[in-house]
Amino acid sequence: MSWRQRIAEEARQSYPHECCGILLGKNAPDGKFEVTEIRALPNRIQGEGRGTHFEADSLFLYQVEREIEGSGLEIVGFYHSHPDYEAIPSREDAENMVPGLVYVIISVTGEGVVDIRSYKNDIKC
Ligand SMILES: [Zn+2]
Repeated sequence: MSWRQRIAEEARQSYPHECCGILLGKNAPDGKFEVTEIRALPNRIQGEGRGTHFEADSLFLYQVEREIEGSGLEIVGFYHSHPDYEAIPSREDAENMVPGLVYVIISVTGEGVVDIRSYKNDIKC
């Protein structure tokens, strides 16, 4: 199963809640990227608002950074799902995009995954 299929499956299973995670792999100088591993991030938001908001646990992020230190892997980007919403960045998403990182958004409904799109520096790629 490719990493895109894996995150699609995670988005479907998390529905109607958002899922979010880290893409690990390698960034190529030409702007291309390769994803070899994914890490699901726990959503810090519980209960109400969980479907529409995601706040990554910074301690978990720190632990992943420690884990990959010296492994040759790097954080390529992040993915998250938009339950019942298009795979386009929300204003909040766009504001939080770190240049050079890839942001994959998965549009998911009760029927399944509708669309998966990748963005870099707010540009579709
Ligand atoms: Zn979003």
